[in-house]
Amino acid sequence: MAARADGPGAVADLHLHSDHSDGTEPPAMVMAAAHRHGLRTVALTDHDTTSGWTEAAEAASSLGMTLLPGMELSAKYEWRSVHVLGYLFDPDDAGLRALTDRIRSSRVTRARTMADRIGRDYDLQWEDIVAQTAVGATVGRPHIADALVQKGVVRDRGEAFAGILSPHSDYYVALYAPDPVTAVAAIADAGGVPIIAHPAGRAGLLPDRLVTRMLEADLAGFELGHRENVEPALGTLERLVRRRDLIATGSSDYHGLGKPNVPGENTTSPDMVARIIARATGSEPVYP
Ligand code: AMP
Ligand code: FE
Ligand code: FE
Ligand code: ZN
Repeated sequence: MAARADGPGAVADLHLHSDHSDGTEPPAMVMAAAHRHGLRTVALTDHDTTSGWTEAAEAASSLGMTLLPGMELSAKYEWRSVHVLGYLFDPDDAGLRALTDRIRSSRVTRARTMADRIGRDYDLQWEDIVAQTAVGATVGRPHIADALVQKGVVRDRGEAFAGILSPHSDYYVALYAPDPVTAVAAIADAGGVPIIAHPAGRAGLLPDRLVTRMLEADLAGFELGHRENVEPALGTLERLVRRRDLIATGSSDYHGLGKPNVPGENTTSPDMVARIIARATGSEPVYP
């Protein structure tokens, strides 16, 4: 199908965060920022929650944009975190909901434990983190970072992540997250389209064996356009995507003021958007 320049798929950015997780703006403001940057197809992909979908859908359609409701599901492989983007799944699917409920509740326990540990050395309490987290939002290390900034302990999120919040720090606590195959299968079973986020970062590629198992679990593709992807891992994945005719996306991973990433700094082609829509069975895109 030849997509029209102004039709569904035009200038698409399929990875944006709001304050329902670790972005700094409410979903309607995220949609407005995306529109200002010329985007016409977007996805809201907060970590482990769909609670921003309704507000995002209203804002996107009033701005004339197409919205693919989405999520960035936490997973982990051995010590490293793996993020699985899911698009157009059924938000009421029981299996996926049980998984995200479990991850989110572990995130609260984990953030409280990290607050206790940090609080032994710095002026920081759990309440300071709560104050940086929108009601009902998925809490994460970025909110602890914001509390540390507010307390004057660090200058910005980046400094917090490089030190106090790093996995190598004594303050670090791991969160519960499913293995990547389970995460991919949960999205696919909910009728969604699973794509591995920032798959070629500095930690390197996931092992071939794991990628094979994820593809068997219905993994649709990879987010090849992302500022954290680096060579030579990126080139290897590009070849895999071409060879197996997988879906390739490009996105900003916008977090408002929480990261320098700008809406539309990477984009997804209209034909890839069309493939995602055609493959999904869990929910419909929201058209303007
Ligand atoms: P968590 O899932 O709670 O362990 O926190 C990881 C999240 O923090 C990721 O999803 C990123 O959005 C964010 N993050 C990681 N590194 C940085 C950084 N250097 N600056 C800002 N945000 C970061
Ligand atoms: Fe994030
Ligand atoms: Fe991510
Ligand atoms: Zn993200």
